[in-house]
Amino acid sequence: MLEVTDLSVYYGEARALEDISITMDQGEVVAVLGANGAGKSTLVNTMAGIIPARSGQVLLDGAPLQRLASHKVVGEGIALVPEGRMLFNQLTVAQNLKLGAYSLDDRSEIGALQQTVYDLFPILHDRRDQKAGTLSGGQQQMVAIGRALMARPRYLLMDEPSLGLAPIIVDDMFDLIVRVHEMGIGVLVVEQNVARTLEICDRGYVLEQGTLALSGTREELLGSSAVREAYLAM
Ligand code: ATP
Repeated sequence: MLEVTDLSVYYGEARALEDISITMDQGEVVAVLGANGAGKSTLVNTMAGIIPARSGQVLLDGAPLQRLASHKVVGEGIALVPEGRMLFNQLTVAQNLKLGAYSLDDRSEIGALQQTVYDLFPILHDRRDQKAGTLSGGQQQMVAIGRALMARPRYLLMDEPSLGLAPIIVDDMFDLIVRVHEMGIGVLVVEQNVARTLEICDRGYVLEQGTLALSGTREELLGSSAVREAYLAM
């Protein structure tokens, strides 16, 4: 179980998140929805140990992760696919993937993980010696997801995986999220593509201006007039 309890995060004096509590288990795809600036990226970056919390906790199976550096959080089994992908454009696909396994030292395990990623994304195997910066947006997102999978996560936090992708590729990206989940990984997905996200998630949370406005199962969110009006234009 991955839990956030009463989390508040500030940038200087500016409040980004106030008293946020969420839970998820490894068998779920959980969505975090909300408008620009609602605090979604802040939430996943805090869970990944990149941004410090002012108060509250992030707990994995009941143990606090709070003061762990981000590389320690990765070692605990929580990997982030950051917004904007953040690849090393001058490094090859294979080199970018290997960077994701920096917390592991068993070379045969790293090789096996890399093979798992190539099985999931055969195109990355074809392009393994190509510089990441020369790939299409969809392929770069595959590298970013593959790199996160190289850390052998139990939980994957994905920040806007469909952002900036061509519409035809967006569907593939959502199919991939489902496939990653089927590997036994819990997925927390931050998305602006609410309609598509509500097709694949089990549950979701809606953030508004740093506070939790709503939460519920997929069906509850789809049935919510607030969600339908604000995000689905229905
Ligand atoms: P987006 O979809 O635009 O990424 P978001 O829901 O992910 O939005 P955050 O990026 O978490 O929202 O931002 C939450 C609030 O914190 C916003 O008001 C934003 O302006 C502010 N903020 C984010 N990053 C910083 C920062 N580094 N310094 C100061 N304020 C920040």
